[in-house]
Amino acid sequence: MQADEVLEKGDFACPYNSALLPKLVLCLSQLPHNIAPCSMLPKKGGYAYPAINVTSLPTINGALRAFSESKSDGIIQVSTGGGEFASGTSVKDAAFGAIILAEACHLLAEKYNVLIALHTDHCHPEKVDSFLKPLLEASRKRIAEGKGPLFQSHMFDGSVVDLKENLAISKGLLKECAELGIILEVEAGCVGGEEDGHDTSGLPIEKLYTTPKDMVEVYEALQPIGRFLFAATFGNVHGSYKPGAVKLKPSILRDGQKAVMDKHGAAAEMDLVFHGGSGTSESDLRETLDYGVVKMNIDTDTQYAFTRPIVTHMCQNIEGVLKIDGEVGEKKSYDPRSYLKKAEISLCERMKIACNDLRSTGQTIFGKF
Ligand SMILES: [Zn+2]
Repeated sequence: MQADEVLEKGDFACPYNSALLPKLVLCLSQLPHNIAPCSMLPKKGGYAYPAINVTSLPTINGALRAFSESKSDGIIQVSTGGGEFASGTSVKDAAFGAIILAEACHLLAEKYNVLIALHTDHCHPEKVDSFLKPLLEASRKRIAEGKGPLFQSHMFDGSVVDLKENLAISKGLLKECAELGIILEVEAGCVGGEEDGHDTSGLPIEKLYTTPKDMVEVYEALQPIGRFLFAATFGNVHGSYKPGAVKLKPSILRDGQKAVMDKHGAAAEMDLVFHGGSGTSESDLRETLDYGVVKMNIDTDTQYAFTRPIVTHMCQNIEGVLKIDGEVGEKKSYDPRSYLKKAEISLCERMKIACNDLRSTGQTIFGKF
């Protein structure tokens, strides 16, 4: 079955195909009241979509509120660790937890006047069978029921294997995704640091920079098959670092795009993803938008924003949240809702900053189709 056939038949069908608008990128949440699932690629120097990692209802609600108050479309994403967490400490099934979070997002997003795309974060080769495959199956099932796919996009992170093997696996997965109208994000080069239990902090420095040759190879392997996003690396590191510790070279992206466009024409400019952007200066960040970054992942900064007010709450209500010296504490202080609401709102405020940084504020296309 061809991708176009699927896109024309389902009720999630995008009214614009790539022949009409060559720069369509994200098929956003296909919800009953906003079946206008495609958004145009933010143009050069335009804006990028913030992509926030969620793990729970409070983080989903904080993200949705931020996108809505910013009038920004955006991406909500789930990592393998996030999925496992959401399934509970007893079940510990990453794919199952991701399905639960995604279904919650589909329902909750209906309450907001912005478009939300659902995505899964880094999936390494050894987790394809236990994570990506069941999620693709869940999308297949939804499509058979006349709904849209569960996730609009998935990431396969083959940066741990050599580029040849990475692209061989990516091609197979992209074919499967394209048949379901799903985008595949790939990575070549490697993001440094530690995230979700995956630690690359010992890697040689040159691995942190994708070469122009790699970028051409990725383009030529994937472009004929379907839509993809490319996490090319330019010194990015997961996690939080003191200013100056991370040496970003956004020009790597410019040079790689130029190599691809010199060989295949201006339309070949790829849609890039920025990982490990915590602590990036505004000028570096804005520069990446000029070189084709359309999605930036946000996790560390919102994790901190979520936890920060909980710390204050505990410190200010220490006698209420603990039962000390035969006392009984204070129910309204240790009720988890009391501090999780503060956490949700703080995460929301941090996400609104991300929308401003990426210039997505006010850019929603909700209701414009
Ligand atoms: Zn990442």
